[in-house]
Amino acid sequence: MGKSGQKFEIDSDYQVKACADKVPNKPNSFVIFLRRVGATLSNMLFPAHIKCVICDHDLKTVGKYEICDDCMRLLQKIPDEHCCERCGAKLSGEERYCFNCQQDERYFDIARSCFVYDGEMRKLIHQLKFSNKPYLARALAPFLYDKLVSLGWKYDKIIPVPISKSRQKSRGYNQSLLLARELAKLMDTTVSCDVLIKTRETIDQVGLNYIERKKNLQGSFDVVNKYLVRGKDVLLIDDVMTTGATASSCANTLKKAGANRVFVLTVAHGVVKLPTIPPTNTLKLSKKHATDI
Ligand SMILES: [Zn+2]
Ligand SMILES: [Zn+2]
Repeated sequence: MGKSGQKFEIDSDYQVKACADKVPNKPNSFVIFLRRVGATLSNMLFPAHIKCVICDHDLKTVGKYEICDDCMRLLQKIPDEHCCERCGAKLSGEERYCFNCQQDERYFDIARSCFVYDGEMRKLIHQLKFSNKPYLARALAPFLYDKLVSLGWKYDKIIPVPISKSRQKSRGYNQSLLLARELAKLMDTTVSCDVLIKTRETIDQVGLNYIERKKNLQGSFDVVNKYLVRGKDVLLIDDVMTTGATASSCANTLKKAGANRVFVLTVAHGVVKLPTIPPTNTLKLSKKHATDI
């Protein structure tokens, strides 16, 4: 236990960090040793603020961003004023809500994302998730921080979108937890780990539309120690929002457990591909057309 009564853990990004509301799960000493060796190697190989994480060129200035000015220009930020009022998807027209938010109930109160999930941002997130580059969470967290500060949301708990135990085992870490922890460091607060959990593996959602994703996720999340979220405003962190089905399912679970409001913040948001049929037929559209990337 830490000085302030918080529990500490050696986590999957190989660092000792404060972890609020953690359900005790002590790794054995050999695992801790390996993770410490990994942490040292990781820090030696990928020191912060020296090279741009996109082009690998030396950064001209040492600041909080690990992306150079040239690469920053390649990323599409989503402005607060030109996005779906509910889920934060970038909109091309004057509509207030995106197709998915118009079609179905969302359980989260509001969601916002920093970037469009495209080009270099898509590559970065792919590397974070699938190429064993957990240090990229450190490079992406400052953008979550900036967005959060500009939005001015007030919340009680930071909770990452969970992944299943088997996915965590094969990947070695939960990228959303790493992002949440890096954000919490910048906010000088802690993450509520293992409060929202994924109870079963679900099939890969790539290629599924909103309704299919919603079905796929049904009953796959749960809240342990419900008293930790009862009456609380939760900030849910994820790497990407595509259709919003995952965020909505997590928010539904949190609210059933008694959470008050659920805000969602993600690094990137997929481009919603709208059906290309005449507007007169819009009302007859099948929800199947509301497919994201
Ligand atoms: Zn660069
Ligand atoms: Zn929306």
